[in-house]
Amino acid sequence: MKNFRIPKEVIEISQKLEKAGFEAYLVGGCVRDILLNREPKDWDIATSAKPEEIQNIFSRRPSDGVGTPTPSLADVGADSNTIYENQFGTVGVKTESEKPKLKVIEVTTYRIEGKYTDKRHPDEIKFAKTIEEDLGRRDFTINALAMNVAAKEIIDPFNGQEDLKNKIIRTVGDPEARFSEDALRLMRAVRFAAELGFTIEEKTFAAIKKQVGLLEMIAKERIKDEFKKMIMTEDAAKGIDLLEESGLLKYIIPELREGIKVKQNRHHIYTVWEHILKTLDYSAKKDYSLEVRLASLFHDIGKPQTKRGEGPDSTFYGHEVVSAKIAVKILDRLRFSKSLIEKVSHLVRYHMFYYNVGDVTEAGVRRFLARVGPENVDDLIKVREADRIGSGVPKAVPYKLRHLLFMIEKVKKDPILPKMLKLNGNDLMELLNIKPGPKVGFVLNILLEEVLDDPKRNEKEYLSKRAVEIYKLSDKELKKLSDKAKEFKEEFESGEEEEMKKKYWVK
Ligand code: ATP
Ligand code: MG
Repeated sequence: MKNFRIPKEVIEISQKLEKAGFEAYLVGGCVRDILLNREPKDWDIATSAKPEEIQNIFSRRPSDGVGTPTPSLADVGADSNTIYENQFGTVGVKTESEKPKLKVIEVTTYRIEGKYTDKRHPDEIKFAKTIEEDLGRRDFTINALAMNVAAKEIIDPFNGQEDLKNKIIRTVGDPEARFSEDALRLMRAVRFAAELGFTIEEKTFAAIKKQVGLLEMIAKERIKDEFKKMIMTEDAAKGIDLLEESGLLKYIIPELREGIKVKQNRHHIYTVWEHILKTLDYSAKKDYSLEVRLASLFHDIGKPQTKRGEGPDSTFYGHEVVSAKIAVKILDRLRFSKSLIEKVSHLVRYHMFYYNVGDVTEAGVRRFLARVGPENVDDLIKVREADRIGSGVPKAVPYKLRHLLFMIEKVKKDPILPKMLKLNGNDLMELLNIKPGPKVGFVLNILLEEVLDDPKRNEKEYLSKRAVEIYKLSDKELKKLSDKAKEFKEEFESGEEEEMKKKYWVK
């Protein structure tokens, strides 16, 4: 038998339950992952003990390190070792482990679920007598496995081990009934297929196709969680493809579907849809962050809307702006956090930056850094790299990108942000004897622009002298100059000219 490497905290909790006269099994994803030789994401224990009994067992002060009070957890009393989630009969048992996924082990009483009249919440939860009954309420055969820690015995009433061996996702029992009980399972099937590289069994897949519409009943947060897990797998692109094939994509991100069969111009061999999937695939295979993967998925989503003309000369001017807007709409709808939405849309908005060795000055690179934010450069380059590979261009970091990285290294310490100016807002107000107001910002913007051109100008004396001169301009001129400075209409700006220059990029 394999070396199962079950953490000692998990073994100890099981043993305590058994010593107290109850049954205890590892269940669900952790058993599946152990059998697949994968690292489990979390550890779940199912037991014949009732929630109060579990609490009693673990509220005693033991000397073995399991169930020791952890007063730092604010939501429980200082003398408690357990967190009781009443609704599902799950008791979280705290351990002394420093590892996040071992800090609290979920121990759940065997249960069966009542009818699901709303297709997402069981009307009632009843405790069950046996582990077999408990396994019967689980979604897929490969998730309906239990393992007794002491005896290393596997309980497998639905032939989950066989399906594991054959790499098959199959519902426990009648697929149509199981999906209509809880429609999130529709997404979970696809997520597991992508995550494990499995195939969805025929009847199960047919039931998904038939019942895709049920997904509308599911809370966006739950969909988001499964979607996120899917995007974070190595085969995220296959997941998106399967969402489309099953019909689920229409209910999650219909905007992506607009790229299907949309041909691009002479610089691309793939349709928008194919290119998007290949870009995501590269990001996922490289194990990039969630933000980079999402930016890869959405970077060209605005292309169908901005396409002008047909054939080799068609254009997609301004698609990055439209794509960024669509990305915000989608991510907001899926209830992603504000900070994630900002980051992803920023990466999408600026993925078209133009860079050609020799064409771009150091000042241009400083402007680029100022605009995209130094903290985003690495991710932006990752998106760009994925974009290039996704369009069928072989080299990940071609000479041009390497040269850009070299240039960035060179100008990295130069002043590029307003706060890096040697003359700040307060200095400026004192110098000109003016009060806070938009004009202060205008002058600072114009000064920053001059410093971006030449960092040597970042001296208090020079900036003071220039500030006095600039301030003499009329309000209108001042605003105009400042707006221009803010736009950074420079070497990196995309637009019509950029599209033309792109020819040389792709060559
Ligand atoms: P992961 O590796 O992502 O944690 P998992 O299989 O452990 O995968 P969880 O969401 O942690 O998935 O759920 C734990 C177990 O609970 C599952 O293995 C499955 O047995 C059961 N389960 C979870 N969600 C459902 C559901 N919607 N319907 C039926 N059973 C479910
Ligand atoms: Mg799990």
